[in-house]
Amino acid sequence: MKKPSFPSSRAFGYIAMVGTTLALAILLGWTSLAQQIDDAAYDWMFRLYPPVTAPAHCIILAIDDATFNSMGGVGGYRAMWVKAFEMVKRAHPKAVALDVVLSDPWKDSAEDQRLDRAMQDVPNLVLATHLVVVTQVDNGRWEDPLPIFRQHAAAIGHDGADELSADGVTREIPLEERTATERHWSLALEAFRLAKGARIIESPSDLQIGDEVIPAARSGSIGRPVRVLYTRTPIPSVSLKDLVDNPQLAAQFNGRVVFIGVTSISATYDRVATPYGEGRIPGVEVHAQLFETLERGRFLTDASNLAVLGFCVSVGVIAGLIFALLSGWPAYVTAAGLLAIVTASPFLLFHQNIVFPFFSPLASAWLTAVAAASYQHFVVRRALRRAQTETRHYQQAIHFVTHEMRTPLTAIQGSSELMGRYNLSEEKRKQIADMINQESKRLARMIQTFLDVERLADGQIELKREAVQVREIVEVCVARARPLADRKNIEIVAQALDGTFEGDRELMEYAIYNLLTNAVKYSAPDTQVTVACRLEAGQLRLSVQDQGVGMDAKELRQIFQKFYRTKRAEASGEAGTGIGLSIVEQIVQQHGGKMDVSSQPGWGSCFTIVFPARSASRPPAVSV
Ligand code: ADP
Repeated sequence: MKKPSFPSSRAFGYIAMVGTTLALAILLGWTSLAQQIDDAAYDWMFRLYPPVTAPAHCIILAIDDATFNSMGGVGGYRAMWVKAFEMVKRAHPKAVALDVVLSDPWKDSAEDQRLDRAMQDVPNLVLATHLVVVTQVDNGRWEDPLPIFRQHAAAIGHDGADELSADGVTREIPLEERTATERHWSLALEAFRLAKGARIIESPSDLQIGDEVIPAARSGSIGRPVRVLYTRTPIPSVSLKDLVDNPQLAAQFNGRVVFIGVTSISATYDRVATPYGEGRIPGVEVHAQLFETLERGRFLTDASNLAVLGFCVSVGVIAGLIFALLSGWPAYVTAAGLLAIVTASPFLLFHQNIVFPFFSPLASAWLTAVAAASYQHFVVRRALRRAQTETRHYQQAIHFVTHEMRTPLTAIQGSSELMGRYNLSEEKRKQIADMINQESKRLARMIQTFLDVERLADGQIELKREAVQVREIVEVCVARARPLADRKNIEIVAQALDGTFEGDRELMEYAIYNLLTNAVKYSAPDTQVTVACRLEAGQLRLSVQDQGVGMDAKELRQIFQKFYRTKRAEASGEAGTGIGLSIVEQIVQQHGGKMDVSSQPGWGSCFTIVFPARSASRPPAVSV
C-alpha cells in the first residue's frame, strides 16, 4: 500500500486554519469595538473591586455654586483666588495646587496685583498650565500662567486628563505632557513631590519620588499614563463661601495638600466621567484623586502588549491542541474549561492589580475553539464517509473475487461429480480431466495475480523479467476472450503483433486480457475489437480498440481509480467492480510503462499500453 500523505496535509490545513483564526482574533483586538468592550470590562471590574478608601491626604477648596453666586460669579474670580490663598496659607498646608490657568491679565490690573500679593509665601504653590494642540501635526503650545504669578510657583503642572479616552471616561492621566521644547509633569504629581520634598527620578519604565516607585512607563502617544484609582467616597472638600463665613474651617488645611478649583456646575464645563459611571465629578477632584492614588502607592498597571500577545497565542494553540488530541465530549468539556479560565483571567489579574484586556484573549479562545471544533467535526464526518465508502468497495471487491472464483470452481465441481457418478468413455474422461486441470490452474493463477499485484504495489516483490513475445501473449489472451466475444458476435482482429518486451508474463497477460474483456463487455453485439502492437519513436504501443459505448473526458480522468465505473457502463449491465483497470495501470507502471486512452461516447475507446524507449544501460528489450 502507498503511504498516505493525507494526515500531514490534513494537519497542515488544520494548523493553517487555527492560525488564521487566531491572527484574525488578535487583529480584532485593535478595533474600536474591542476597545469599548475592554473599557466596559475595566469599569465593571473597577466597580467590583474598588480601591480601599484610606484617610485622605489632600483636601479640595471648592468654588462651588454657593461661592460662585455669593462672590460675584465669573467677574469675581480674581477676588475668589485672593481670598482662597490668603486663608489657606495661614493654615500652613504642605502644598497648594490651583486648578485654574492664570494665563490672561485681568481687566482691572489692581486685582492682579492683589492676587500677586496673596500668592506670596504660599508654601509649595503649584500653578496650572494647559497644553493647547491646534493640529495633529504641531506639538502644541503651553498656555502658561502670567509671569507675575509664575514667580510665586514652586512648580507648574499640566491639567491634562484622559484625552485619548474613546468614551469620555477618565481612566488614566498622563503624568507628563510635552511640546517640542518643554515638558510638564501633571499638577497632582508636582503637588505630590513638593509635599514629599523629593525630586523626580526618571527611568523609561517608572518614576521614583523619595522611596516610592510609580510604574508609569514612557509609552506611545500618551506620556507615562497612570490609572486613577478613584475612591468611592469623594475627597473631602470645603466650600470657599463656608470658609469665608467660618474661618476656623481653615484648620483642616494644616499639613495637607490643598487643591483649589471650580466645582460649580453653572460656572464650568470641567466635569469628568469616572469608571463608577454615576454622574460626573469636577476636574479638580480628578487631580485630587490622582494625588491620593500616588499617596497610597498602590497602582494598577497594564499588562504589556507582548504579554497579551503571548497569552492570546498560547490560548489559541491550546484550543487547537484540544481539538487535535481529543474528540467528542472530552474535547468540548476541556475547551469549555479553557474558555472559563480565559474569561476569569482578567478578573484574577485585576485582583493582582494588573489590567488585562478582555476582548482579544476571549476572542482568541472562542474563535480558535469554534474553528478547531468545526474543522475536526467536518473532517471526522468526511473520514467517516470515506471509511463507509471504502467498506462498501471492499465488500464489492470481495464479492467480485468470490464471483470470479465461483465460475472455475463450479466447473471443477460439476465435472468431478460427472466423473464420479457416471460411467464415461475414456475420451470423455480425459476431456473432463483436462478441463478440471485447466480451470484449477486458472483459479491458482487468478489468486496468484491478485496477491502479486497487492505485493507489487506494496513493494514486497520484484517483477519477473523475461523476454516476452507480444504475439504469443496476445494470442493467449485473445483465445481466452473469444468465447465471451462470440456470445455477442464480436470479432477480435489481431493486426501487426511484432515485438518483444521484457517483463512479467503472467501479470502482462492479466493486463491485456482485462483490456480485451472490457472492450468486449462495453461494446454492442456485431462490432469489432482490434488488437495491434507497433513500435513508434522507440516506444512499443500495444493497443486494444473497440467500437463500444466509449467515455467522455471527465470519465476518462477517473477510470483508473479503484472501484470507479461509468454510468454508461453501469447502464449496459456489464460493469464489474471497477478495480480491473486500476490493477492494469499498476502492472503497466511496474513495467515502467504508462496507459494512454482515447475515447468518445458512442464511438468506442482505444486503450494503449506504452512502453518507453529503453535506456542505453539496459539491453534493448524490444526487437522488431
Ligand atoms: P470493471 O470491472 O467495471 O470493468 P475496470 O476497472 O476494468 O472495471 O473498468 C472501470 C470502468 O471503466 C468500467 O466500469 C467502465 O465504466 C470503464 N471502461 C473500461 N473499459 C472500457 C471500454 N473499453 N469502453 C468503455 N468503458 C470502459
